[in-house]
Amino acid sequence: MSSCGTPKQRVLQHTNTSVLRVDNIKINTDSVKLPGTADLLAEKQATAMPLILTTEDNIKMMMREGINRNVDWAEAIHYDIRKPNFVIIHHTAQHSLAQTIRTFQLEHTKVSAHYVIGKDGRVVQMLNDYLRSWHAGRSKWGNVTDMNSVSLGIELDNNGREIFPEAQINALLILLDTLKTKYQIPFTNFLGHADVAPARKNDPSVFFPWKRLADRGFGVWYDESNLVSPPDNFSFVDALRIMGYDVSNLNKTIVAFKRKFIVTDVEETLTDYDKRVLYNLYRRYF
Ligand SMILES: [Zn+2]
Repeated sequence: MSSCGTPKQRVLQHTNTSVLRVDNIKINTDSVKLPGTADLLAEKQATAMPLILTTEDNIKMMMREGINRNVDWAEAIHYDIRKPNFVIIHHTAQHSLAQTIRTFQLEHTKVSAHYVIGKDGRVVQMLNDYLRSWHAGRSKWGNVTDMNSVSLGIELDNNGREIFPEAQINALLILLDTLKTKYQIPFTNFLGHADVAPARKNDPSVFFPWKRLADRGFGVWYDESNLVSPPDNFSFVDALRIMGYDVSNLNKTIVAFKRKFIVTDVEETLTDYDKRVLYNLYRRYF
């Protein structure tokens, strides 16, 4: 018997196992008596200052809204913070690491990322992994409708029309390895921004080395030696949807799929070759 099992058993043997009746539980109503969001806004407006809600104000409001006032409150004591379960990769479409950092620190931009990686491989963390950064925007993957709530955002300094230098990709691979292990992120959950927002976004560009990432265990790739034609009843729309893509704007989704897996052609239709690639991916992973 392992030593860590022993104390627990002893506790179980000697615990008084009478079941707590709900009317014996002390209901603490302090939290629900906190002023609500409307009160907080009124309080802010009462000052002569223009109404600017800081990040702290927003979080305070969310914490209040997170408590359901229609039910009783008995505070649990065992909890921590939710872990990220996806990584979303972006290119910045800006001109330097410094410019990107400045953008994420300006009040009006309302965008951020957890990490920014320079062309020279310098990695700058801008937000704690456990916090919700504003990098994915309106986004969807499978049934996940708010990617920001479940993902880490990594921005690569790149204007969208240039290759990603070796030093930058190497730094990215090291970071991904750390994050994958630390948060036990499934390999299928390493995605690009355009995967989760195909109608709005086109990053990272065709220059991004997805195959190389997949070879290292981040994301999926097809088996080039086994590209057979799909059967007649194969629905490519269903396959894209089952992979995770939002197919509500199908043409844009096809472009996102091709930008990642086909690269040489990003037209809005799937050729026979493209369908073989999709069929291979579908059979391989989904
Ligand atoms: Zn992006």
